[in-house]
Amino acid sequence: MAQSSIEWTEMTWNPTTGCDKISDGCKFCYAEIMSKRLQAMGIEKYKDNFEVRTHEESLNIPYTWKNSKVVFVNSMSDLFHKNVPLEFIKKVFKVMNENPQHVFQVLTKRSERLLELHSEFKWTHNIWMGVSVENNKVISRIEDLRWGFR
Ligand code: SF4
Repeated sequence: MAQSSIEWTEMTWNPTTGCDKISDGCKFCYAEIMSKRLQAMGIEKYKDNFEVRTHEESLNIPYTWKNSKVVFVNSMSDLFHKNVPLEFIKKVFKVMNENPQHVFQVLTKRSERLLELHSEFKWTHNIWMGVSVENNKVISRIEDLRWGFR
């Protein structure tokens, strides 16, 4: 968890790290560049650089924040990456469900998996789900999001 310089959020929380490129919007991936830097700095969480990893030890972090926060979930990964097990995603949702005082912003480029799995989760009001759409080639992500929440 860290203060964020991203203008539309306050904090970042990374229960998973790592990803791989899926579309044009990944070309200048910030998370990939940062992972390499953090690995070079010897940060344990990034020892495997940009490989997808889950971090059980990060799950309790939102319970420790005293004031309500607006939180970007997984600035260093994609929660719906195929290598993040469903059981782990459920744990992330449990944390979000149990912390209604915080707003959790989840963004994905894996909208198909979001659509496939969305009924597995409890969508409390404090979860803001979005998809990244960088160009017309991936506009179907919006449809996936709409279908999931009709
Ligand atoms: S989906 Fe996001 S985190 Fe993953 S490679 Fe693309 S831009 Fe980076």
